[in-house]
Amino acid sequence: MNVVELTRKLVSFQSINPPGDESAAISFIGQWLQGIGFDVQVCSFGDRRANLVARFGPQQSPLCLSGHIDVVPLGTAQWQHDPFAGEEIDGRLYGRGSCDMKGGIAAFLVAIENLLRSHKALRNGILIIITGGEETGCTGARALTEQISPPAACLLVIPEPTSNEPVIAHKGVAWLKLVTKGKTAHGSMPDQGINAITKMAHALIALSDTPLPGAHHPVLGHATFNVGMIGGGLNTNSVADLCWANVDIRLTPNCSAQDIQKWIAQTAPDVIIEQVIAQCPSVYTDPHEPNVASVLKKLHDDRLIVHPQGKAIDVAPCAGHNHVEYDPAEDVTSAVYFTDASVLKSWLGDVPTLILGPGDGFMAHKTDEYVEVEKLERSVSIFERIVADRCL
Ligand SMILES: [Zn+2]
Repeated sequence: MNVVELTRKLVSFQSINPPGDESAAISFIGQWLQGIGFDVQVCSFGDRRANLVARFGPQQSPLCLSGHIDVVPLGTAQWQHDPFAGEEIDGRLYGRGSCDMKGGIAAFLVAIENLLRSHKALRNGILIIITGGEETGCTGARALTEQISPPAACLLVIPEPTSNEPVIAHKGVAWLKLVTKGKTAHGSMPDQGINAITKMAHALIALSDTPLPGAHHPVLGHATFNVGMIGGGLNTNSVADLCWANVDIRLTPNCSAQDIQKWIAQTAPDVIIEQVIAQCPSVYTDPHEPNVASVLKKLHDDRLIVHPQGKAIDVAPCAGHNHVEYDPAEDVTSAVYFTDASVLKSWLGDVPTLILGPGDGFMAHKTDEYVEVEKLERSVSIFERIVADRCL
């Protein structure tokens, strides 16, 4: 199967999450990997929910390639193209998940198959992790980390949609449900009660007006705070005894979820964190890290990645490194979304991590989602170079 055929096959599995229905796609990929000599382990995390871990060659410090096989729902707008057919029209392959991120998974699978055809033995092995449940807050990856002991890896690459531009960083999230409590009373006698809504109002203004903890990060900037939802009270003529607000905090390497909990306790002591809706740390890898730099140089020399014009990010040159020839910091950028790297990077021993895939970020989750065939084919070449650099 070439990369277009394999992407089309993966798109045909209706692995929509929620509710999450990955097991058919996982078992197809498992059989496909067994067919090219991988040891495959399928780890279920619920009814029709599954992750997959597959290994080939020496596993002391393998190259880890990972992607999620779940896709977001189709939405309410009418699609012009069958979302599960993988129609190819004018150089675009259409379908839910083609961009985010079944095309990326197909690209690394085909690259591995191509390399193993001519190289039966590897100096360094390959570890593949296919997850479910990513679109609802990395639930599949998290389940996996509780089921098996952490493997080693020299580099983690996740082909989320980046238009084939190497991404080394993204923010993390802390989505919290905050609650304030009061005492109910008749609305005509507010002095008899304690109003939970006004308590929450003061707390949210204090949180919005107080700088978040942590210094400015050279790549990811500052952590951010946003109130997404609010509710409270029982009726118009009572003093509200309960108010809740859902807040969305974006984390950086300088601002962890623990820092945020301390910050809330100090800034708004009346507030209780009732629920952690989702929590994933930020991801950052120095592009001068030797394994990352080696891969980037190879891709740069073969003109498979281009300098992200105008997007070059401010990474301090590493001490003692001569940048006259090539500086990998010039070829990398950061992403706005979060990925399974939030969970997998620390689980794999804070492994250096690249996010690099064929889809265009703006296409993810859209009606009539597509991936460009030219970018899919380029992604195969990129993964052939990455596997060759780390494993041959
Ligand atoms: Zn994705």
